[in-house]
Amino acid sequence: MLSRAQEARVLEVLRDCPSDAIRTYCLEHLAAAVKILPTHAADLITFLQAMRATGDCEAQYGGFCDADGHDTEDLLVWINVTPPALP
Ligand SMILES: [Zn+2]
Repeated sequence: MLSRAQEARVLEVLRDCPSDAIRTYCLEHLAAAVKILPTHAADLITFLQAMRATGDCEAQYGGFCDADGHDTEDLLVWINVTPPALP
């Protein structure tokens, strides 16, 4: 599992983008930005899946990684900046 500090850092990195903009990260560059070792990549994915389940972030396979400006076939994640829909 990730430590609380690591989880906080993931959120910090994902939220570090201009408002109303989406900044996508591939797992590799997110892990590098958060300074999570490759050996903990599975823990990072578990955390991201939990965040996705609660609607805090979005994820998809394949797309453009804004962190380093490259296309990837791997998992891309970004913070969900869309406000919850009103009932
Ligand atoms: Zn990347």
